[in-house]
Amino acid sequence: MISFLDAWQRKKIEAFPGRVQEKLDAFHLAALKETVSHAKARSRFYATHLKDANPFNSLHEFTALPFTLPAHIRENSLAFLCVSLDEVSRIMTLETSGTTAPPKRIFFTRQDLEATLEFFSLVLSQLTRPAEKALILLPATTPAGAGDLLNTAMARIGGQGLVPGPAMDFNHTLDILFTHTPSVIIGMPVQVLALGESAKAQNRQTGFLRHAVLTADYVSPALTSRVSDSLGCRIWDHYGMTETGFGGGMDCFAHEGYHLRETDLYFEIIDPDTGAPAPPGQWGEIVVTTLNRLAMPLIRYRTGDMSRFLPDPCPCGSAFKRLAPVRYRYAGLISLSNGSVLGMPDLDDAFFRIPGVVDFHAALSRDPETPRLDITLKALDPSGIQNVDIQKYLSHSPVLQNALETGVLHLGPLRVELFEFVDTYRSKRKIHLETR
Ligand SMILES: [Zn+2]
Repeated sequence: MISFLDAWQRKKIEAFPGRVQEKLDAFHLAALKETVSHAKARSRFYATHLKDANPFNSLHEFTALPFTLPAHIRENSLAFLCVSLDEVSRIMTLETSGTTAPPKRIFFTRQDLEATLEFFSLVLSQLTRPAEKALILLPATTPAGAGDLLNTAMARIGGQGLVPGPAMDFNHTLDILFTHTPSVIIGMPVQVLALGESAKAQNRQTGFLRHAVLTADYVSPALTSRVSDSLGCRIWDHYGMTETGFGGGMDCFAHEGYHLRETDLYFEIIDPDTGAPAPPGQWGEIVVTTLNRLAMPLIRYRTGDMSRFLPDPCPCGSAFKRLAPVRYRYAGLISLSNGSVLGMPDLDDAFFRIPGVVDFHAALSRDPETPRLDITLKALDPSGIQNVDIQKYLSHSPVLQNALETGVLHLGPLRVELFEFVDTYRSKRKIHLETR
């Protein structure tokens, strides 16, 4: 089955001539021109930032425009505004965890939110039948909540959203799950895994669930198979961020990368060191430009996420681009003395294989001799994994295994703790650096 985004996007570009990719290129060029002219004319930031930018007549020439950085938004979000505050329908505030940096504020008009609602409605209408329910474990009441937009989208397609917010307590969330029997669950990977394992441990059947959409953090294949095993449903991986108006892309039945929301967003991959466009198919940093956004267009925004465009057509037959699963963020990578780099996803590949582990904390102490990695496994029943033979699982992460075997990294004594939901939803999981 072809990605359901295809038909939706083909319709939006049908006025342009040529084959699908030519139509899309022409659509993008027109939308980018409009976005840049709107931003330059109305936003104080872009009036200055793009003052010396040349007009562009091709997607290649567009890449000469300067990047927008997260720091630009933090410095002065209001300078990005292209509409009056009266026209702003919602402000999303993004705190940067663990720092005193000012928060990023992202502004949306009603029409901007409408574009996200259209995308969410499309996704949810593919996953649910009329009158079905979706359990949405994402913030609905905080200023950065995607939960209530998903809830609105469910209502629009004739279904019902259940939005308790991120899971904070097993009994409460399981009560909602088994009382309302939703057909879809949407949440952060670790939270959904913990709920699935908990239901399984209690021998409670979740046959009513058909789909789980995992979002807001990297989804390791090891975690995917654990969630699928515990909840008995199909797993979907969604990529997006507040800056993109949440929805960014979603994998298809082939589960080989994301199909992108290409008529609302323009994606590029760049070399993070030089800023030059990455050669086709090469890894680099994802840069995104919002299209048709009124309140706060972002032009060539550096996301810090690493990926690449997959060169081969998707097995589903989609005519559009595919982005490889976003595995790393540049900021989260640790350079080892053997030249390799280690990120949280490398650890996920090994530690989520361990039966019973639903999360883990990783801390790296920068010992002058050899850095030591301290792992605290989190489980619903810590006694069940006290004597785990960790060696068995390391081969699932070649980078980690190689670093340990060659002695550039040491593993501290493994600790096991009881899993708690607290702090499992505030930010993406990462290796914590301990300075001494
Ligand atoms: Zn596909």
